[in-house]
Amino acid sequence: MVVQDDIHDYGPLMDKTPAVRVLLVNDKRTAQLAIHGCYQITGSLTNIVDQGQDLRRCAISISNGGINIGNKHYNHNELRIVSQQSGGIEVNSVRYRGEIRILQQLNDKLSVIEETDIESFIDGVLGSEMPQSWNEDALRAQAVTARTYAMYKKKIRRDDVYHLDMLELAYRGIANESGRLTQIVQDTKGIVMVYNWNIFPAYFHSTCGGHTEDVRHVFGKDSIPPLSGVACNYCSDSKHSSWSTDISKSAIEKKLQEANVYISNISTVMAVNPGAGNHGSRVEIASANGSKEMNANDFRLMIGPNNLLSTSFQAKNNGKSITFTGKGWGHGVGLCQYGAQSMAEKGFKWAEILKYYYPKIELVRVY
Ligand SMILES: [Zn+2]
Repeated sequence: MVVQDDIHDYGPLMDKTPAVRVLLVNDKRTAQLAIHGCYQITGSLTNIVDQGQDLRRCAISISNGGINIGNKHYNHNELRIVSQQSGGIEVNSVRYRGEIRILQQLNDKLSVIEETDIESFIDGVLGSEMPQSWNEDALRAQAVTARTYAMYKKKIRRDDVYHLDMLELAYRGIANESGRLTQIVQDTKGIVMVYNWNIFPAYFHSTCGGHTEDVRHVFGKDSIPPLSGVACNYCSDSKHSSWSTDISKSAIEKKLQEANVYISNISTVMAVNPGAGNHGSRVEIASANGSKEMNANDFRLMIGPNNLLSTSFQAKNNGKSITFTGKGWGHGVGLCQYGAQSMAEKGFKWAEILKYYYPKIELVRVY
């Protein structure tokens, strides 16, 4: 355990690690399932409806008011599957720890939810969000950030279980886990950041490009000191600190169309109203039919967050394509991951890194 004398307890501690439900498959016609080891399938009540060992990869689907697993039909609208083997459940080729639910949705669609606990979930997120070889204090800072974000996203229900959509944090089950990462998550077990004793959405991103942004500027949310932006002199070595990419106008128009934004004959794209970190808060898209304005980060997500790395860019019209030249990767709010790695390499500890990127926070233990 890494002892920090400035970590407070947050009221009465929860007596156990909170459970979390992670949405793996959302409202789809089908998904792939395989089970390794001995397993049990129960219905919505606790009655066992099937059991066996090693189920080969097969399709799951809904028909006639029940759930199909391979060529077996179960007359239930919900199934819970538990494998005794750790990592024994495989959904769409990704291995998960050991317990899922398949839920029937409207129009013969289904959802799949993993049932796990928040520490195991953070374990999986850490390996997907940061290179495993990075400095352990950068990884610890990332673990606390992801835990804070996940706990902020809790939706309190009668069962008081945390519900998360896997798209909110990169998560690939146990695929990227390792003993080193598990230990690093353990080092900060139960610790989250609070501001004024409130857990807040601890946004993070890859590379800010020189200054992080105010949450109001990027997402239009109320600004608080931990999310108001800081100068970052630590990420200039990031391979994403400056970039240039050429995207064809037809590809841009198609991506926008997929998001129900219809623009043809684009002439220019301009990021406007730059924040302290030079990320535009809005974009203006000029075309033969006039111009259109939208939230810059929404535009980036429509084009693809890995195609247009940030909203800190300048664009040049090349006829058939637009060349974007920009800085940083990600929305620019909260922790700068490359900055955190560089601070850790310079000897800063995880708590110092967090207090740098999220000013005026307290670190508290909740369980
Ligand atoms: Zn940075």
